[in-house]
Amino acid sequence: MTVGGGGGSFRTNCVGRLAMATEGPYDLVIRGGTVFDGSGGAGMRGDVGVRGDRIVAVGVVVGRGATEIEAAGLAVTPGFVDVHSHDDLAVLMEPEYPCKVMQGVTTDIVGNCGTAVAPFAAARPMFRAIGPEVEMEPWEGYAGYLERVDEVRPSLNIAALVGHGTIRRAVLGNAERAPDAGELAQMAAYVREGMEAGAVGLSTGLIYEPGRYAATEEVIALARVLDGRGLYATHMRNEGKYLLEAVAEAIRVGEEGGVAVEISHHKVGGADNWGKVRESIKLIEVARARGLDVTADQYPYTAGSTSLFAVLQNNALNERGEEGGLGRADPANVRIAFCPANHDWEGKSIREMADLFDLPAEEAARKVVEASVRTTVVIETMDEADVRMVMAHSTTMIGSDGVPGGSKPHPRLYGTFPRVLGRYARDEGVVSLAEAVHKMTGMPAVKFGLKDRGSLRAGAFADLVVFDPATIADRATYADPCQFPAGIRAIFVNGVQVADNGLHTGARPGRALRRGM
Ligand SMILES: [Zn+2]
Repeated sequence: MTVGGGGGSFRTNCVGRLAMATEGPYDLVIRGGTVFDGSGGAGMRGDVGVRGDRIVAVGVVVGRGATEIEAAGLAVTPGFVDVHSHDDLAVLMEPEYPCKVMQGVTTDIVGNCGTAVAPFAAARPMFRAIGPEVEMEPWEGYAGYLERVDEVRPSLNIAALVGHGTIRRAVLGNAERAPDAGELAQMAAYVREGMEAGAVGLSTGLIYEPGRYAATEEVIALARVLDGRGLYATHMRNEGKYLLEAVAEAIRVGEEGGVAVEISHHKVGGADNWGKVRESIKLIEVARARGLDVTADQYPYTAGSTSLFAVLQNNALNERGEEGGLGRADPANVRIAFCPANHDWEGKSIREMADLFDLPAEEAARKVVEASVRTTVVIETMDEADVRMVMAHSTTMIGSDGVPGGSKPHPRLYGTFPRVLGRYARDEGVVSLAEAVHKMTGMPAVKFGLKDRGSLRAGAFADLVVFDPATIADRATYADPCQFPAGIRAIFVNGVQVADNGLHTGARPGRALRRGM
């Protein structure tokens, strides 16, 4: 049931809803809540009526619903869109997907950081750090993946990005060179297939193999294949010393490739670089003033999570080498999340591993990677003031960047959305509740072209969250990450209830979402 021993569990809840046999004109009425429509506007007291998979009435709803939810004192919002997930294969392995669903996430965008689902033969090994090596029936292209999602029917909706890294691996392996004309045409054909199948854009991971070997021109050439449809989402080449150069590169791809840009997990790592986000935000503002559609997403934590191999390759644990894309990290602040070679190492820091092996920290990390190249870590490199500055900015939306797998995943996998609503909006006032909701609903739905999603209005899909603004909170911590949040009363996907008072109902009403449909 859980991915990679993720530890999360849920109970199927069989409340006898069918016993409420009153046949009303509505399948569902949520009564008397404070309705946030996802636009960023203030909440308004009202009812929400649902028929089938759509919202049909908002305001004063006369007439009973087959299901009635009393929401006085609660917030009623569109379902949350996680614009930055890595759940591509995990949702097929565990379709109830409680780590996201229980946060109120009703749509997951997969295929981020250049790592995505097609071609299958290249994709499968790239997901080896995510969950167990289970057998999977291959699919054909993005069309095949989206069909598989519809067959499996997870509990939440799935939209996909085309991954540049996966396509490059399929055509060029791990070659450290530019593609020739024929190879570039092959890569373009894969991008075209994905976009025609309904992918919402193209992603890159320019610190990772093999994306790091791509020049900007290669990315621009592939962005042009989008022909202005969808967007370009990027894990940039550098999130440390050269953050500003990397943002400029992303904007150049948007400008010359003719597509909208989404900067993934906008942040800066390494104490020497803290504060640079003030300038990267300015670069985004200047580009927008020129008419470019540039936005960003963020997870609400000061630690990141990635593969230990990438940490080493980017010299994050090496004080002498040229600083790579992650900034520097203290070995005491790099903790193993997932290590299939030895699960007892999960939760230990690289400093502790160095003591255990009696080796310098970087050598100890190499030894862990030799034991399993699939090892992932949680890496503390950011400044809280930077996290708040990025969150408060109007161009930032929310994406978890959760990495499923292991016993100690980054808590963002379980806590991102309630943490923004509870800690950052209610407790600290970094953003208002209405703005926080907008950053996880209306804003991402518009940017990623999710038709009739992210908006609480008559005619939109009935993806809905009912929560208590006074008590909503993340409970996942670094030490104990696989914990569901508090304060969520009910969650609906396509009009079907997937969570009831903190319990997963077991329902699986999710769909593959194709761009513009
Ligand atoms: Zn990334």
